[in-house]
Amino acid sequence: MFKKQLNLIFVLLLLTVDDIPNKWSEALFKKILENNYDCIFFITANKDSIYNPEYKNLIKNIIRNGYIIGNHSFSHSTNNWNNNFLLAFIDFQKMHKIIEKEFGYKMQYLRIPYGIKENTGIKLFKKFYKYKSIKWTIAVKMHFNRFECQNTVECNYEPIRINDNKYYVVLFHPTKSIVENFDKIVECLEKKYGKIKRLYE
Ligand SMILES: [Zn+2]
Repeated sequence: MFKKQLNLIFVLLLLTVDDIPNKWSEALFKKILENNYDCIFFITANKDSIYNPEYKNLIKNIIRNGYIIGNHSFSHSTNNWNNNFLLAFIDFQKMHKIIEKEFGYKMQYLRIPYGIKENTGIKLFKKFYKYKSIKWTIAVKMHFNRFECQNTVECNYEPIRINDNKYYVVLFHPTKSIVENFDKIVECLEKKYGKIKRLYE
């Protein structure tokens, strides 16, 4: 009972964006930057979009503004990971090395595509490269231009701890409708769940 009350009073939200870069990533990043929200951006290289010069600048810009980039695997394809756990290791390693080489940036956080379970390869990768997982608590989905907060607390994902605060983690995807409805979405999220973490506070 006491724990529940605590959660109600102190719940804070940390924004995260999966599947960058794509063509809506820059517009979404601008919205986040303008509002001074903190955010972790999870990067993947499916479709080789990471090699597009325009996207390279976006990634540089995200890093330069003090944001964290996280590893969302190179391929974003988890099909064979459970048959051969080394494939998962290699997939995250590949992404890690590209970002280190291209941007001189060492990623420390990962998010597994499609929310699948951590297998042996991912556990090994995390240990070897000293990574932490950031799972999400609330997924923002658009439905006929109305947004829904899909609460996934039933997955038992614990809020993450940063300094003395506990944060529920909000998952966004860079899409046209999310960008167009961003202001409404964050207003509604703050009303329903609590204050969004700002970048510097
Ligand atoms: Zn994804």
